[in-house]
Amino acid sequence: MSQYPNSPLGLSPHLWDVLACPCEKHAAVEADEEASEIVCSKCSRRFPVRDGIPVMLMDQAAGDLNESGSTSA
Ligand SMILES: [Zn+2]
Repeated sequence: MSQYPNSPLGLSPHLWDVLACPCEKHAAVEADEEASEIVCSKCSRRFPVRDGIPVMLMDQAAGDLNESGSTSA
């Protein structure tokens, strides 16, 4: 189903060039192929990929968050 079967998570290689974590470090991100998630190399936040589109939103991130989550949706 992916347009880019040879690229991590099936995302465009160009997207990987520009993808960065929305955290204050704006750090590079990596693919977690098993989880189908994008992982920040600095803050370890994890971002889902929905319909082939990375959801790089802080409030959608999971992972090493110290702040207690407040949303459930
Ligand atoms: Zn980060």
